[in-house]
Amino acid sequence: MIIIDGSEGEGGGQILRNACALSLVTGEPFIIEKIRGRRDQPGLMRQHLTAIEAACTIGGAQCEGLELGSNRIAFRPGSVMPGEYRFAVGTAGSTALVLQTVLVPLALVDKPSRLVIEGGTHASMAPPFDFIEKCFLPVFERMGPRVSTRIKRHGFFPRGGGRIEIDIEPAPLRRIECIERGQPQGREGTVLLASLDDQIAHRIRKAALKNLPDWPEDRITLRELPADQGPGVALVLASSFDNVTEVVSGFGKLGLSAERIGATAGKRMAGYEASKAFAGPYLQDQLLLPMALAGGGAFTSVKISDHTRTAAETIARFTGRTTRFEQDGEGRQLVRIA
Ligand code: ATP
Repeated sequence: MIIIDGSEGEGGGQILRNACALSLVTGEPFIIEKIRGRRDQPGLMRQHLTAIEAACTIGGAQCEGLELGSNRIAFRPGSVMPGEYRFAVGTAGSTALVLQTVLVPLALVDKPSRLVIEGGTHASMAPPFDFIEKCFLPVFERMGPRVSTRIKRHGFFPRGGGRIEIDIEPAPLRRIECIERGQPQGREGTVLLASLDDQIAHRIRKAALKNLPDWPEDRITLRELPADQGPGVALVLASSFDNVTEVVSGFGKLGLSAERIGATAGKRMAGYEASKAFAGPYLQDQLLLPMALAGGGAFTSVKISDHTRTAAETIARFTGRTTRFEQDGEGRQLVRIA
């Protein structure tokens, strides 16, 4: 039985999701204490609960302590069953983070699965749908499995109500090395807007472009969604290279100005483009789990995040695989999973 202190390292929900996925694949039960111990409101929130429930459903797992606010769970995995599943977060909690929990276990079984996940698709502190579709999955597919995704409805904070569908065609994971991102292939930005004054979208766009002097103005377009999907606004910037597409996002929030949303995302994208790294700061922590379960792998990235270091520690507990971080000759971080 693996015992995890959920307040260690980054101390948030990611430890839980990675632990569930690793437990389902390795068959190792675990107990996690002090869940989300570094957050202002520790314990399980709705989106974590849904992610763990999803892991129990696909993996025939038993879990003690599964309730809102819980600080401790004991998770005992069963066997992973491919199939058709529907999971609903019930709030704007992230659909992508539920997917993050079940994707790798379902990609390693012998039959395909189809998932419908309902909740938030474009809310802060989680991957927006576009990141999953354009950034994470194309790299994941290079390891073997085939995954297709569709967004049926957008879900913004606080209402949620979004819906994504995912088809997973499993395959054994193979090791890959993602060192060079290759030559630039194109840039594309969208401001998604639902049931809000379109001046907000124009201001976000302007502030983003101000920080992206190399981006032609017409590269960022506005897309108005049906009013019943709002209120909500999100900026999604995608910069494609031969081998990877980086997706940077910003989300509307009460009290956060349109200028700030646009400028922050614009600066982050400019920073990524100026580096020579393959993975941006979020792809970095999300690649570790599939790479470790592929038996190893390597990629270059920007500055190493606390999420990544914590994910590396959780992975080591279940698999014994270590992750090394070093600076390479190009000023990038080289992340290597043994
Ligand atoms: P908590 O509330 O405890 O922080 P959480 O489960 O909501 O829990 P984290 O543990 O912080 O969140 O994990 C967030 C995950 O979402 C990480 O894997 C991170 O890479 C990813 N993520 C966050 N923001 C983005 C973004 N803008 N684009 C892509 N991925 C993101």
